[in-house]
Amino acid sequence: MRVPVLAGNWKMYMTPTESQSMIDQLIPLIEDLQNRKVVLCPPYTSLSVLSKAIEGSPIQLGAQNMYPVDEGAFTGEVSPKMLQALQCSYVIIGHSERRQYFGETDSSVAEKTLKALQYNLTPIVCVGETLEQREEKLTEPTIEIQIRKGLAPLVAGQFEKVIIAYEPVWAIGTGRTASPEDAQDVCAFIRTIVASIAGDEAQKVPILYGGSVKPENIKELMSQPDIDGALVGGASLKAESFARIVRFE
Ligand code: 13P
Repeated sequence: MRVPVLAGNWKMYMTPTESQSMIDQLIPLIEDLQNRKVVLCPPYTSLSVLSKAIEGSPIQLGAQNMYPVDEGAFTGEVSPKMLQALQCSYVIIGHSERRQYFGETDSSVAEKTLKALQYNLTPIVCVGETLEQREEKLTEPTIEIQIRKGLAPLVAGQFEKVIIAYEPVWAIGTGRTASPEDAQDVCAFIRTIVASIAGDEAQKVPILYGGSVKPENIKELMSQPDIDGALVGGASLKAESFARIVRFE
């Protein structure tokens, strides 16, 4: 029912030239695949190159952030209108690195999520606990607050247009993956919370796992009932490893 979503978050890697070369290698490795949504979220500076390169391919484009205003005097920011003009159909919202280094909060996440939907961009809303919170057994309350506040302005009919990514902060870029069972437990918990807010729409919401996803662990993660895909950092930078992830190989 929920089509698997495999999204690559390139973070602050890849020049436009490197992006072009990666996509040229990736497309032939995955273009025969059915029943997958494949999304690449490069830095803003590579969106233009990729928007041309993905034409006619099964790959869709996303951004890593946006500022929730149509346009204006906001030096250094990029609006959803600009993303739409570059064929973006997804946008990552509230990644833990943005929360940690750039002051992103649950209320900015809420504002951005609503604005993204108004521009027909699918928000990939990131939630996850820190190591400290996990050790203090605060995983569930932390995530519950992030979801309730992050989705607060949404109304019926909008929830099913959102993707949620569960990324435990301690698993990002560390080589430590949550065990598939632990990741499943938290993703099932997330679905319960979304259901308590959005009712049946929760069954349509893709919930992704992120944090040291690689070809070696994708199959087991994807075999969990509430994990509908992955948000991949490091392993999405190389065509071969990302293709293996997309193919569950
Ligand atoms: P890694 O896959 O490099 O751990 O990064 C995960 C992530 O933050 C994706 O958004």
